[in-house]
Amino acid sequence: MIEQKYFFGRKSKACLEQCHPDLRRIHELAIKSIPVDYGIHEAHRDRETQLAYFLDGKSRLDPRKPEHRKKSKHLRLPAEATDFHSSEKGTTWHRPTLSFIAGYLMCAADLLYNAGEIEHRLRWGGDWDMDGQISVDQSFDDFPHLELYKPQ
Ligand SMILES: [Zn+2]
Repeated sequence: MIEQKYFFGRKSKACLEQCHPDLRRIHELAIKSIPVDYGIHEAHRDRETQLAYFLDGKSRLDPRKPEHRKKSKHLRLPAEATDFHSSEKGTTWHRPTLSFIAGYLMCAADLLYNAGEIEHRLRWGGDWDMDGQISVDQSFDDFPHLELYKPQ
């Protein structure tokens, strides 16, 4: 049995409360054994915040456009997306560390999915098309972003 090393803080817990149950279960499974400390800083996002991110270039989805609103899983409530960061010193946005955390979470999602306990897998902003090519074949990277999707 692996002893749990890290626990979610108040902010991460508040984010998880806004999340779709599948997303919550994935994070709750991962935190039990992940060897890198991480936190969640955003789940649900209102339209004003989404617009600010869009205008700032942090997001490609413009909430003034209905088709973009439909796409954004942060705008949904319960939220179907979370943005995470590393809580290890000096690595908050360190891409290799974020990649490690994302991989761990995607694995947790697949374990739950294969056991029939959840209905979604995770899509990661470091590899939007999920082809295993991280960052190199896409024009917009969002390494802290993970969202639920339903496999066909
Ligand atoms: Zn995001």
